[in-house]
Amino acid sequence: MLAGVTLLQFMEKVPDRVAAEHVVHHLGWKYALDLELTYGGFHPTVLVYFRDRLEEKGEERVIFDGVLELLIELGLVKRRGKQRLDSTHVLGYVKQMSWLECAQRTLGLALEALESVVPGAERPGFWERLWACYVEGELDWRLSEAESKERYWQCGQDMGELLRWATQKSPELGELHALKLLQRVFEEQFEMVEGRLQPRLRRVKGAVQNPYDPDAHFADKGSKKWVGYKVHVVESVDPTEPAKVKGEAGEHFITEIITTEAAQDEMSGLAEALNRQERHHGIKPEAIYTDAGYVTERTLTEAEQNGIELLGPTRPDPHPGPYNTDAFSVDIENKQAVCPQGNVSTQWSRIRDSYQGTEYYRIEWAGQCDSCVIQRQCTRSRNGRRLLVLGLRHDLVEKRRRQMKEADFSKKMHPRNGIEGTLSELVRGHQLRRTKYRGMKRVRLSHYLMGAACNVKRYVNLMAFQMSRAALQAA
Ligand code: SF4
Repeated sequence: MLAGVTLLQFMEKVPDRVAAEHVVHHLGWKYALDLELTYGGFHPTVLVYFRDRLEEKGEERVIFDGVLELLIELGLVKRRGKQRLDSTHVLGYVKQMSWLECAQRTLGLALEALESVVPGAERPGFWERLWACYVEGELDWRLSEAESKERYWQCGQDMGELLRWATQKSPELGELHALKLLQRVFEEQFEMVEGRLQPRLRRVKGAVQNPYDPDAHFADKGSKKWVGYKVHVVESVDPTEPAKVKGEAGEHFITEIITTEAAQDEMSGLAEALNRQERHHGIKPEAIYTDAGYVTERTLTEAEQNGIELLGPTRPDPHPGPYNTDAFSVDIENKQAVCPQGNVSTQWSRIRDSYQGTEYYRIEWAGQCDSCVIQRQCTRSRNGRRLLVLGLRHDLVEKRRRQMKEADFSKKMHPRNGIEGTLSELVRGHQLRRTKYRGMKRVRLSHYLMGAACNVKRYVNLMAFQMSRAALQAA
């Protein structure tokens, strides 16, 4: 029953208190939940504990899975159908802090956690100073740049001092969540340089931005910068479906909704989406429509290996000017490439990068470039010799770039466009853009509930339309 109430709550976007009231007074809810009219209800906090239990047991997707399995049984979602995928950003439920504020607040939280477990007599001599500065004190926004730097460095010293004291005092103190977080923030923001503590010059990827939600990371996507998460949404689509009449509900249902770190790339999102769908529901799409962020040599290769057609444009070659990779004719089978001036490559090597775990081809033209008339347009290398670096399955990228030049390519990609509408529906209808929760697990749970609510709404709309059409036809 609580799963049903939670689902209705996410469909109606009502808080726990209102949901608990609806269970008692709303006849529609009683009917949907199959409750007796005399049912007396429960306290709203029961819903909080229910979500906590789902999170603790790692059952964040159980309601979403139940709804999706029902849609598969009804034949509305095919296990070997076509799908479309896209991602969008999710703002975390925390404010963006400066590094100084983040370090100070983390230290304050660690002191508050220690206060409840370390008796007054056992606290270190510097306790009072740190407490006054980081728990009772406020960050002064009028500090000059030099003062801010000095405060930041002092904060690093204090963090180190407290961590050293806690480690010497008792190993159990180091197990406190707030102390672990302090250690993490200290290591992410400071380093020892020639025996002296210094703020790090380069920020660590995935660093804590706000101690109240360490899982909310910073991401920079060109014009878009945010602190929070990223969500990938996969939806079923049928390109052969006839055009809908006005008001007719589409048979598109969300088959996976993946919450990831804000800065995670699209390629990993695609792999995870396919993996989870197969693992939880035996869904292995025949084809999947995506945008250019998902279509790379790696994903095209993986899709080919798994028997999935990955449809979508690929990114243009990043090499500037007219003599980019597309201007070269590459024959991977015979290990030969012909440059824009018609010269055949002189060197073809297969390189294994054990650090990055990648393999690629390195192609050279050596002395032929020295006397080339377009040398300056073709290469900017110091020695004036063009070097071509290509992935092992560059032929797949080349093929896709050729397809992109075909007249009907954009028409073939039309089925992908609807995913923008689904993202808009989740953002406007279910508040996907700004999460109300903190922590990856809780945010993931809320996204699965939004996905389940969206699917139920779509199913209800479809049924309502089919019933009204049947009634009109009978009349
Ligand atoms: S610079 Fe070298 S690779 Fe480029 S067109 Fe001339 S010969 Fe070919």
